[in-house]
Amino acid sequence: MEDSIEKRLTGLKTRGLKRSLTVLEGPQGPRARINGKEVVVLCSNDYLGLANHPVVKEAAARAIGDHGTGAGASRLVAGTMELHIELEDRLRVFKNTEAALLFNSGWHANTGCIPALASRGDDIFCDKLSHASIIDGCILSRANLKRYPHGDMNALEGLLKRSRASRKLVITDGVFSMDGDIAPLDDILGLAERYGATLLLDDAHATGVLGRNGRGTLEHIGIDNPSVIQLGTLGKAFGSYGAFVAGGRRLIELVLNTARSFIYSTALPPAVCAASIKAIDIVEGEPERRERLLRNASLVRDGLKKRGLDTLCSTTQIIPLVVGDAARTMEATRRLLDRGVFVQGIRPPTVPQGTSRLRITVTSEHSTDDLERAVETITEVAGELIP
Ligand SMILES: *Cc1c(COP(=O)(O)O)cnc(C)c1O
Repeated sequence: MEDSIEKRLTGLKTRGLKRSLTVLEGPQGPRARINGKEVVVLCSNDYLGLANHPVVKEAAARAIGDHGTGAGASRLVAGTMELHIELEDRLRVFKNTEAALLFNSGWHANTGCIPALASRGDDIFCDKLSHASIIDGCILSRANLKRYPHGDMNALEGLLKRSRASRKLVITDGVFSMDGDIAPLDDILGLAERYGATLLLDDAHATGVLGRNGRGTLEHIGIDNPSVIQLGTLGKAFGSYGAFVAGGRRLIELVLNTARSFIYSTALPPAVCAASIKAIDIVEGEPERRERLLRNASLVRDGLKKRGLDTLCSTTQIIPLVVGDAARTMEATRRLLDRGVFVQGIRPPTVPQGTSRLRITVTSEHSTDDLERAVETITEVAGELIP
């Protein structure tokens, strides 16, 4: 065993794929301290700056005083507290659906909901660039997984047309997590309806961000279709932890009864729920955070493009800069950190082979100065390392 552990670790290292942890010395934010030095953070999903917001922190601290630190049990045993129900109610209203159900994370939500919706003999269709947790959910479901090239609607239609399965499930990210483009949801929904498939939308990066009220990709595109099952996370724009699925009342009841990651895991701590509730208040009450976020995203994206760099099809706060080679990508991350900018390199299997990249994300809380300086620094390092 020990031999093979060493061999595998060495293998990862020689392929430039060995991962390690970067430690923030202090809270999440637009700037943070790493290795004793203050740097601009451009790889956090805390898009609206709510992970260290004083009002959110106060709500969490109060919840610890009133409800303790742990939920003590899974939701269906003794772990359901008033704060879980209050948060689910807020999410249901926020998403304008009949019901919503909490999960412990987006990963739990996908690995629980997908097997609850599809099983052996069913067909699942999803984009080649789907998030890993979607793929894991599909594998756990034992359904047949049919993947189409990124955004290729003809390929999706071909797969749907050929399917003989009695239950068909189409799954897509709303905003693709590593490319930052928005799924062609109106086309996907049209195809799902034409071929009798259900649509599951993983809106992890759009929840709290896209749409006039921050409700996500459906609101952004102007679709209000109650048949779409929506998944969102509370760990990104909401700055907290956990996730949820929102949809019809009976659907949610089925998920509550069958999703193993919901049933067999301890409920979210009450303080985490209180933080999420306060975050929803802020998302609803301060649309200027979303506006600042999208403005900051444009500043960085346009700045990089103007300097001749390729940001793929990104139109959101996620801005990829493909380096290609894995080891060279990590060298870019090191040089950026040396120059005061933290952008984590992303490598296979998170992204396809040969497309290792700097995945730049901005938040509403970055200053224009910091972003302009970071664009210069990134351009400099890209010039040194991108062939
Ligand atoms: C981040 C992410 C998840 C996982 O959510 P967590 O709450 O971080 O576990 C799921 N799906 C997509 C598309 C994501 O980007």
